[in-house]
Amino acid sequence: MPLHIETPLIESRSLSSAGHCSVWLKLEALQPPGSFKIRGIGAACEEYSRRGARRFVSSSGGNAGLAVAYAGRRLATPVTVVVPETTSARARELLRQEAAEIIVHGASWHEANVLALSMIEESDAFLHPFDDPLLWHGHATMVDELARSMPAPDAVVLSVGGGGLLCGVIEGLHRNGLGRVPVIAVETAGAASFNRSLLAGQRVELEAISSVATSLGAKRVCERAFQWSTEHPIHSVVVSDHAALDACERFLADHRLLVEPACGAGLALAYAGSPVLAGFARVAFIVCGGATATIDQIREWSANAAEEQEDL
Ligand SMILES: *Cc1c(COP(=O)(O)O)cnc(C)c1O
Repeated sequence: MPLHIETPLIESRSLSSAGHCSVWLKLEALQPPGSFKIRGIGAACEEYSRRGARRFVSSSGGNAGLAVAYAGRRLATPVTVVVPETTSARARELLRQEAAEIIVHGASWHEANVLALSMIEESDAFLHPFDDPLLWHGHATMVDELARSMPAPDAVVLSVGGGGLLCGVIEGLHRNGLGRVPVIAVETAGAASFNRSLLAGQRVELEAISSVATSLGAKRVCERAFQWSTEHPIHSVVVSDHAALDACERFLADHRLLVEPACGAGLALAYAGSPVLAGFARVAFIVCGGATATIDQIREWSANAAEEQEDL
């Protein structure tokens, strides 16, 4: 039995009116661990379990780690998550709630990941947060649901971190006869590894991540995501942190759901009435969710982002 739930798909009056098109929301924020990640990670954990894995290891202090912890609990398999010291108190608390073993190590994700990889034993499975075909197959199930619950969309909006969500959604579009539906791929300015790669015509590694949308903070997108840009219509869009945060606040007021700025980035296109949406009558937004930001944190970031904008 899959570990994810089938999520609601609703037409949003408020986002439709702001975005000047019919906006449909695929509410992945309602997945039990708080984001779409459980679709792919749940599917991968089940598969690794079948292949005999006796422990799951992750180096993500974000939604990927939370999904692994959730999957491990459901499959009665121990989970170890190695996270850097920068991991928020909120994320650590959520990992503890899922009864995962947490090892705090290193100043950044890189060091935590090196330790996690060095710990892998023969009967362990390491769960990559975005670069694994098993993950993409799992993520694609959201499009299976979408395809049977609404008329064909004219475009799909999603956000891009390492590109696992993008790979999964495009795979889902193709397997549902929607291979011509364009994808609008959104990033924040300080985490735009996909946008930069498209401009350069090759995969580019960012020197640093400077965005509050930490769930988009992969310095380099996976090879498959970059490849899709030559095989599927993709519009790459970059928004400011300020716009992403503002979208989180407005979405909370409109739909009573708190999402991370990583998700607000996509919603910001509708709230800004972005010209990117012009010409599309019906647009599906993947509300990817995210459990690691509190409303206090979002408001604090917002206050800082507003100051930075005034300084410009
Ligand atoms: C992981 C994540 C993303 C980005 O997904 P990728 O597969 O890394 O591109 C976006 N939003 C949220 C909330 C996430 O957890």
